[in-house]
Amino acid sequence: MINIPKGTKDVLPADSYKWQYVEGIARDIAKTFCLKEIRTPVFEHTELFLRGVGDTTDIVTKEMYTFKDKGDRSITLKPEGTAGAARSYIENGLGNGVLPAKLYYIIPAFRYERPQAGRLREFHQFGVEIFGAKGADTDAEAILIADSLLKKLGLQVKLYINSIGCPTCRKAYNKALREFFAPHLDELCYDCKTRFEKNPLRLLDCKEENCKKINANAPTILDHLCEDCSAHFESLKSYLALAGVSYEINPRIVRGLDYYTRTVFEFVSTSIGAQGTVCGGGRYDGLIEELGGNPAPAVGFAVGLERLLMLMEQTGVEIPCNENPTVYLAGMDADCRKKAFEICVKLRGNGILSEIDHMERSVKAQFKYADKIGAKYVAVIGGNELEAGVMNVKNMATGESESVAFENAVEFFKNK
Ligand code: ATP
Ligand code: MG
Repeated sequence: MINIPKGTKDVLPADSYKWQYVEGIARDIAKTFCLKEIRTPVFEHTELFLRGVGDTTDIVTKEMYTFKDKGDRSITLKPEGTAGAARSYIENGLGNGVLPAKLYYIIPAFRYERPQAGRLREFHQFGVEIFGAKGADTDAEAILIADSLLKKLGLQVKLYINSIGCPTCRKAYNKALREFFAPHLDELCYDCKTRFEKNPLRLLDCKEENCKKINANAPTILDHLCEDCSAHFESLKSYLALAGVSYEINPRIVRGLDYYTRTVFEFVSTSIGAQGTVCGGGRYDGLIEELGGNPAPAVGFAVGLERLLMLMEQTGVEIPCNENPTVYLAGMDADCRKKAFEICVKLRGNGILSEIDHMERSVKAQFKYADKIGAKYVAVIGGNELEAGVMNVKNMATGESESVAFENAVEFFKNK
């Protein structure tokens, strides 16, 4: 027996409607905001993520699924969606077309992590990237897309925002951070010692308890923002107020990826449970240029779908299932089954959810099965019915039966 790889999950037939529901709402909301879908490969050249995600991030240093293909190229399964979308934007000259380029995707992502509830090695994201617009109204729009999705799904979440400034203000802030952390160097974890040298901002993102304790007193970036970044942050707040979205400023949020500038945000579930961060995003004005494109501002986010579904389950959000057949056609003998088959073909041809027996069951067993799969009606064809050209249709909810002529079958079931 070969088992499923650690940190991955099957979506079984009884549960797939939940995924379809969440993905369907994500697509509807994307449409409402006039986003268009972009589909990029599941794997890319490793170099893309080294440059696009950043070599001081956990993703790049510890979590990537990287391998050599048979042509000796270094390939990586995408650990997130932004780098691939940005590569495609540059490679296909989307910047020369309609701007802003408002894109969304639903993708699997791969990270070699310690599996636990809400943390998998293959997981799924709904992501949005808006390229070409630099104003804070666009940051607000990205936040509103995520907010609409989470609200539509019935989740209780809190929005945290922060600004991590631009390379100019970050220089001053990095200096302040180094001065603050220098006396604590011995107490920091191994990774944070490297972060201290390479990218002190990352120190604030550490998940080790001891580092978190020290972090609590670190200077905040908001005291170091340059005039432009400060104005951008104020503008974002005014747009969020206009939209009626409440938020809390959290100067600890820096996000795990290197390419963020100015706005960063997270949506965190307010109901209990680990891995409560369901969405993370922000502005990344430096990425396109970093990847070799003409400089272009950008803002985006990603929502983790497993975490959404987990929280919906924990908080008892009902997910509607409309997969149950409208009608199950039961046939008594060989001729009746043939008639049932013929009518079933006709019903399906008219878009009516219909099922028939494939297991040579008795009529009684067929009824049982119809009940199990939640059929709204069972239409029985016995010898007498076949002769009279009718079927005996039972409403499974009320128990009432009526006779329906074969030629009226489509008409009868159409709006049931
Ligand atoms: P965390 O701090 O929880 O590791 P992250 O900062 O690494 O999150 P992002 O890279 O911002 O996460 O990814 C966006 C979203 O994708 C997260 O908010 C989360 O909902 C989801 N996500 C990230 N990693 C995983 C994972 N290993 N398994 C399931 N969902 C994940
Ligand atoms: Mg992570």
